[in-house]
Amino acid sequence: MESVDFGLADALQRDAADPLAGWRDRFVIEPDGPIYLDGNSLGRLPVAAVDELAAAVRGEWGGELIRGWSHWIELGREVGDLLAGPVLDAEPGELVLSDSTSVNLYKLAAAALAARPDRHVVVVDEDNFPTDQYLLQSLAAERGLTLRPVTADLDNGLDTAQVVAALDDDVALVLLSHVAYRSGAIAELPAITAAAHRVGALVLWDLCHSVGSVPVPLRAAEVDLAVGCTYKYLNGGPGSPAFLYVRRELQSVLRQPITGWFGQADQFGMDSRYAPADGIDRFLVGTPPVLSAYGARAGARIAAEVGIEPVRAKGMALTSYAVELYDTWLAEHGCRLASPRDAARRGAHVTLHHPNAWQLCQAWQDAGVLPDFRTPDRLRIGFAPLYTRFADVYEAFHRLREILASGSYRSYPEQRSRVT
Ligand SMILES: *Cc1c(COP(=O)(O)O)cnc(C)c1O
Repeated sequence: MESVDFGLADALQRDAADPLAGWRDRFVIEPDGPIYLDGNSLGRLPVAAVDELAAAVRGEWGGELIRGWSHWIELGREVGDLLAGPVLDAEPGELVLSDSTSVNLYKLAAAALAARPDRHVVVVDEDNFPTDQYLLQSLAAERGLTLRPVTADLDNGLDTAQVVAALDDDVALVLLSHVAYRSGAIAELPAITAAAHRVGALVLWDLCHSVGSVPVPLRAAEVDLAVGCTYKYLNGGPGSPAFLYVRRELQSVLRQPITGWFGQADQFGMDSRYAPADGIDRFLVGTPPVLSAYGARAGARIAAEVGIEPVRAKGMALTSYAVELYDTWLAEHGCRLASPRDAARRGAHVTLHHPNAWQLCQAWQDAGVLPDFRTPDRLRIGFAPLYTRFADVYEAFHRLREILASGSYRSYPEQRSRVT
């Protein structure tokens, strides 16, 4: 391993050698703003989105009025097709923007369960993001199904052997996150998907922390279904619509339960009977949020232009650098790495455990750094590769070391606020 002195000069050298360094200019970044280490919760604002949204508001909403629908109606497909290939391993027509991730989870999980009517079990990860768990709880209750939990390690993620052991021919669906929201651990998507298929189950992957940070072999692994949001690493803006993926071969086989007019075969035929559209459109529901879709398109365009491989390479370099700084500076102050140590096994964020994590989070914010807090007692630190510099990581960790060494965090309240 190269010897590292962990000085600012070393960080600046890494930035000078970074092939993605120029992409930072594509984002609105206040020169005196905080060091932003939460791009995995809400990505930064793309410069292009500012003008495109303004033009959409004035020219399209203000000028085109109802005529705008002639092209607005294609936006969700357009963004899906932008992602297909350079960002996600999918074909055009397999991805579309729609609703929120939560609603898409419901639609696709229900569609999968309806396609396996004789089976009674859904395999779920007990440490999955809460919305995924809540939705499956109500789906299972509605249909008299059993949830079969697998227990993921909070810091190291899913054990593939444990997931495989939970599979049998009564399993209708397996729903898991590809990159764990808390630790960033990457699940073995190809192996788990193949094992689920061997018992005849369908698989639904949540890609919220994967899309725009790591490659996802959807076609290569023959993934059935996937969902994800566009406001995290895709930089689509607060509340930008989510995407859903349905493998082409399944599109005409599956039926989703929220049968709105945007999923209707001849939408403007105004027929009184529902007949699902062909292809991915049958997974749509109602009138989409057009302005938010423009935000999603601005973010997706950048992601598609860069391509996922260089983003992945930089994500691994940034998290590896952060782990080295943690080892050298923070471990001695009671922090513990709560993410996989192997860069190949984690996404683009790193989580640190500390008993006073919430107080640390507040002190770090006051020191000009924006991280994320996650229960129990964890700082989740996102290194969105398109705009995070090595010098940002250096400076942020340097400040955290000072906070830890001085104990200044102890003066912050232990009581958490409503949004963390
Ligand atoms: C962020 C996230 C969600 C968000 O769902 P919404 O419906 O957009 O609120 C869902 N699942 C995972 C794993 C996430 O990380």
